[in-house]
Amino acid sequence: MKIAQISRFRFRVASGVILAITAFIAASTLCFTPVPAQADAFDHWVAGVWPDARRAGVSRRTFDAAFRGVRPDESVYESAGNQPEFVKPIWEYLERAVSDKRVKNGKEKLRTFHNILNAIEGVYGVPRYVVLAIWGMETNYGGYMGNKNVIEALATLGYRGRRQRFGRKQLIAALQILERGDTTPDRMSGSWAGAMGHTQFIPTTYNAYAVDFDGDGRRDIWDTIADALASTASYLRVSGWRPDLRWGYEVQLPPNFDYSLIESGKKTVKQWRDLGLRRPGARMEHANEQANLLLPAGANGPAFLVFKNFRAIKRYNNSDAYALAVGHLSDRISGNPPFTQGWPTNDAPLTRSQRKEVQSLLIRAGYAIGGVDGKIGRKTRAAIRHYQRKKGVTPDGFASMLLLERLRGR
Ligand code: CA
Repeated sequence: MKIAQISRFRFRVASGVILAITAFIAASTLCFTPVPAQADAFDHWVAGVWPDARRAGVSRRTFDAAFRGVRPDESVYESAGNQPEFVKPIWEYLERAVSDKRVKNGKEKLRTFHNILNAIEGVYGVPRYVVLAIWGMETNYGGYMGNKNVIEALATLGYRGRRQRFGRKQLIAALQILERGDTTPDRMSGSWAGAMGHTQFIPTTYNAYAVDFDGDGRRDIWDTIADALASTASYLRVSGWRPDLRWGYEVQLPPNFDYSLIESGKKTVKQWRDLGLRRPGARMEHANEQANLLLPAGANGPAFLVFKNFRAIKRYNNSDAYALAVGHLSDRISGNPPFTQGWPTNDAPLTRSQRKEVQSLLIRAGYAIGGVDGKIGRKTRAAIRHYQRKKGVTPDGFASMLLLERLRGR
């Protein structure tokens, strides 16, 4: 806080000099524009954004209207700086993401928006359940879309801090949205990082993929449900969604499964079946399709075969936990049961420093895994499997708290 104030004061001095020079030049060329008395470093920065905005097709009128009353928002820096060291276990994340209440609300929305969802599914080939699940995940079906003024949040990020490039780029894209009249500055609300409306699109994603589904000429993801949900489906489709394929499904592994097979990457469902995998309570669909085996919590948690559509969901948010939550929520809304296998709640995921500790201890135990980088890659997993076999525990190659404690206790 203190450092920020000091550097701000320095900016004030510097910008004061620049403003004096600017005023002198302006006065001497007889096209004097009054400079507000409180003009400071931020105003100066905003003025520097204008040439880029103009080049991007933004008019002066749109630009001025967008920046009316906009000031740096300290809470945006606080949100941007919050990088928790504690890692939330995936089961806690899923419990909240796919709560009974969210499933129930999803079923309600399914009825309320039946016609819209039907039409969207017809055009984009993305199942209504998946569209609803993303809506539920992103904003709790429009319950919280973020209450930041998007121009202010992005200008704050662009002005200073570690996300300046992102903030400035998204700010220009946001101004283009206003220029086209898709929405107005007061309706353009979103998260601290500029994720906007029902679907939480950042401005560049919006510009590339949002659609006007109700045909009123505006792509309105803030106040028109049809536009918002169709934009989600459009984005998934462009990201590679295949209408004839599921996201994935839960599977059970046979006893004595060879966990090193996970390293071999994709196999067809039929190949996985030949290796002993089974789908609880249902046929193993898509026999000839390629699938990855996903074990989010190691051998003691649920296992999944995931298809190309899982990757399409990850384009929305590049996290296995997120894609799994979307897939599972969509299944639950469509009436499917919860996972059959429970989670290893007696174990815990590792922080980055703990993963490094695992690697250091493996090296000390004589394993050649390369460097200590906190990333559990192929070599580290192979070493863990070898170590687990030696200790007589399931050799799944999964780095967790129980493994770390075992290594520490050597
Ligand atoms: Ca529209």
